[in-house]
Amino acid sequence: MSSPKTSISFHLRQGYILLIVPYLQVSGMALFPFILVQKGNPSKILVNHERIHLRQQIELGIVFFYLWYLINYGVNRLKGMTHNQAYHQIIFEREAYREDENLGYLTKRKWLAFLQY
Ligand SMILES: [Zn+2]
Repeated sequence: MSSPKTSISFHLRQGYILLIVPYLQVSGMALFPFILVQKGNPSKILVNHERIHLRQQIELGIVFFYLWYLINYGVNRLKGMTHNQAYHQIIFEREAYREDENLGYLTKRKWLAFLQY
């Protein structure tokens, strides 16, 4: 018998596949077409945040998205930001944190909208 606390579960949703990964080190992450979350029943805001990242990944491709993401983080650190500041100032996180409470955002979002954040 598998324990619900350590097994991964799959949930097919509209536009993405939700993966509940109990040993994930962060509350959520996006890896197109998956949204990985640490706990079941994630909040609408967390799912919307990760769906914004999925949209960014569709626009750029996963490899280029993560490359840009890491370089952006590294440059922020070189500017003297703390880990937390450097993470929140990544262009993709700026858009996602600014708009994640706006649950209708993705229906109105323009192509490559992250460039404005
Ligand atoms: Zn994020």
